[in-house]
Amino acid sequence: MNIHEYQAKALLKKYGAPVSRGVAVFSPDEAEKAAAELGGPLWVVKSQIHAGGRGKGKFKEAEAGEKGGVRLAKSVEEVKTFAGQMLGNTLVTIQTGPAGKQVNRLYIEEGSDIAKEFYLSLLVDRETSRVAFVVSTEGGMDIEEVAHATPEKILTFSVDPVTGVQGFHGRKVAAALGLTGDLAKQASKLTDVLYSAFTASDMAMLEINPLIVTKDNRLVVLDAKVSFDSNAMYRHADLAELRDESEEDAKEIEASKYDLAYIALDGTIGCMVNGAGLAMATLDIIKLYGESPANFLDVGGGASEEKVTAAFKIITADPQVQGILVNIFGGIMKCDVIARGVIAAVKTVGLQVPLVVRLEGTNVEEGKKIIRESGLNVIPADDLDDAAQKIVASVKKGA
Ligand code: GDP
Ligand code: MG
Repeated sequence: MNIHEYQAKALLKKYGAPVSRGVAVFSPDEAEKAAAELGGPLWVVKSQIHAGGRGKGKFKEAEAGEKGGVRLAKSVEEVKTFAGQMLGNTLVTIQTGPAGKQVNRLYIEEGSDIAKEFYLSLLVDRETSRVAFVVSTEGGMDIEEVAHATPEKILTFSVDPVTGVQGFHGRKVAAALGLTGDLAKQASKLTDVLYSAFTASDMAMLEINPLIVTKDNRLVVLDAKVSFDSNAMYRHADLAELRDESEEDAKEIEASKYDLAYIALDGTIGCMVNGAGLAMATLDIIKLYGESPANFLDVGGGASEEKVTAAFKIITADPQVQGILVNIFGGIMKCDVIARGVIAAVKTVGLQVPLVVRLEGTNVEEGKKIIRESGLNVIPADDLDDAAQKIVASVKKGA
């Protein structure tokens, strides 16, 4: 689960991280009021969307100009003008894809005088099964580019969960950033604070780009991107409330209501599969035969008829879908339940595209019989290979 920059900063502040003062707003009038309250002489007007690269991004609408989604303002009037240009308009950044994202909220922040920009992030490192720090003096820019061109400028280390973060970790961060004296102390403290915030709130990633040194020698978190481990949200009701559903794919939100593991993709074949491994294999084999999947969908081990119906509705509601492949191996899941779910769904939403069903496992004969006797135009398949070829051929024929 992702949150907005201003929410991430408020959370980090609670743990003691240095952030600038700021106010989240939803209208130009609110922006004006916030700017007056913050006082000048410099303000930053920041588009709040769940994507990075806002500073270098561009708005689609001419009225918003070609200027970016993060702008420095020198007067209260300018803050209001920028707010009017950004709100309601679509910001396209390197991370949003060409469709961009509509800006519905802004963060008005007091401007900082920047002396240096660094990069600092924490993430769960799967290789070491630990929380890792990634630190670089090359802040403000694309870290992937830095990693590619000058990997020696990036320091990575992980923290032993038994001891937690220790003094030497903080000194490592300070040294990597070339900080001494009081700034080194600030870096050490920040290292502790970020690690505590990360572990206590079950973050999956915390990226600060840039972390700055101001001209008056303060370390400040100038940008913050946080994502949480969704599986842990049940124990953070306060954080779960920060979710902004307008930032998420509508199909994925619907799927989450039914506890379906669903990820929207950009192909043409809708897939309904049980088990993540079989789902991955299904995506691969569709690719192998020359088409692309429209989604990843794992209905889970013991899905009910209701859940299968919901899954089928989500797939058919996707205008990109030109064919559907149901691929079920009935272990705990029973083939007859799947068959009934599919038929119930087809009866409510109709079937505009070819549907291939491959069933195997528990109650397979009963499942096949239900489908055969439904009178629906379903193409049966015997195995995964056969199923993939049949759905790809049907979609190609229809196109
Ligand atoms: P991003 O483009 O989405 O990563 O948004 P950031 O919050 O990182 O802002 C982009 C850039 O705007 C930063 O790298 C800074 O160079 C600049 N910026 C942001 N806040 C300030 C500020 O308070 N003062 C100054 N001078 N520049 C800022
Ligand atoms: Mg940034």
